[in-house]
Amino acid sequence: VAALPASAHLARAEEVRDWLAAHSGDYLERLRALVRVRSVSADPAAGPGMRAAAELVAAELRDAGLPDCEVAETGGHPVVLAARRDAGQARPTILVYLHYDVQPEGELADWSVPPFEAVLRDGRLIGRGSADDKGPILMLCAALRGLAECGGDLPVNLIVLVDGEEENGSRSLPAFLDSRGDLDADLVAISDTSMLGIDRPSLVLATRGTAGLEVELRTLDHDVHSGKYGGAVANAAVVLAEVVAALHDENGRVAVPGFYDRVRPVDEATLAALAASDPPEQDWLREVGARGESGEQGLRVHQRVWTRPTLDVVGTWSGHTGPGMKTAIPAVATAKISCRLVADQDPDEIAGLVAAQLRRLAAGRAEISVRPSHGSRPVACAPDSPAAEAAVAAYEWGYGTRPVLIREGGSIPIAATLAERIAPVLFLGFGLHGQQEHAPDEWLSVRNFELAANALVMFLLSAADLPRARTAST
Ligand SMILES: [Zn+2]
Repeated sequence: VAALPASAHLARAEEVRDWLAAHSGDYLERLRALVRVRSVSADPAAGPGMRAAAELVAAELRDAGLPDCEVAETGGHPVVLAARRDAGQARPTILVYLHYDVQPEGELADWSVPPFEAVLRDGRLIGRGSADDKGPILMLCAALRGLAECGGDLPVNLIVLVDGEEENGSRSLPAFLDSRGDLDADLVAISDTSMLGIDRPSLVLATRGTAGLEVELRTLDHDVHSGKYGGAVANAAVVLAEVVAALHDENGRVAVPGFYDRVRPVDEATLAALAASDPPEQDWLREVGARGESGEQGLRVHQRVWTRPTLDVVGTWSGHTGPGMKTAIPAVATAKISCRLVADQDPDEIAGLVAAQLRRLAAGRAEISVRPSHGSRPVACAPDSPAAEAAVAAYEWGYGTRPVLIREGGSIPIAATLAERIAPVLFLGFGLHGQQEHAPDEWLSVRNFELAANALVMFLLSAADLPRARTAST
């Protein structure tokens, strides 16, 4: 159980809250200006927008009290890097990670408003990137400016790292981190995850990792006439279906030898905390019109999504896929397989285990070639770490409700990289379930913007009391 914020922090946090109440409207306008800049990192034509967005973010960070801020070059889109280290050696250094790039807008016809006009409607700011992840950038700027206006000093040493390629795999960031020796921190706070709702503030304690494979299975030199050879030769589509179906047992467990060997058991206290968050299990299934369930029998939906690893076929192709029929037996079938991993599974090891099992299953019937694709490590933060306890107290201050503890079934690949190279990770996200990030009509709640800024203020104040180094555990 986290301690309540010290009264010294309360007085200043209350002062900043008053300041934010008067100025969050101004910061919302600044956010709208940033949303209007189209910074789609995956679009090769978006270069000028990327740079303009980076410059705008840098200007906001300088204005928020971080004059030492640069738009730094990488092998790809620039990162924005700001630092302020005048809180003293005794105080911890927090690195806050955000991203200014956004997902492609997709089909304009699917939007009810233009995606880059930052339209305000019914308490929502609608626009690509409003929630993911430009909103949190301006929430942080508002919090920092509020602290500067009320009491001056920043209570912690701070590094703000704003990625320009998060939505495109953060491809340039590892090399950028290698090239910079000055990014030492005691804690990495990633502000890019979502809560269950504005009335259900939530602290994310873990994200899953990934391991992907591309599989090509061959049963013949070429497709053959199904009349002349049908009933005599192995059909690649059928063999592939049998092979992938054998990757799960009758209880829904992944039937790959060694797959679960490194899965770290989740302790009872964490399981109880996750269950107590009252996760919207049946809604998860209803919202997508699920006709049935999958996964390990005997586990609730949230346990399967938050605490267990998975193996899924995410793409498959074989034979004639054009219109009409073609009566040929396919020689080749392909599958794309994607696993979600939990601590302490290793993506390379899992890809190797799955590949070996695929070869065993296909032996004697088909040749199989397997190519690993994406991979990232899972990341977890202990609920009883000082950083998590400070975050719990901060959300409680900002939202007026004690946050629930949840996990995230998805992955933030750069989180593992930051945890390995810089410091333990804390997920300090303020998104809301249902805000349609990556989809048409992405929106940010105007009310949430101010509440989140208040939570950030309390976190920065109480983070000053965190021990230096190892403030959370991975
Ligand atoms: Zn994001």
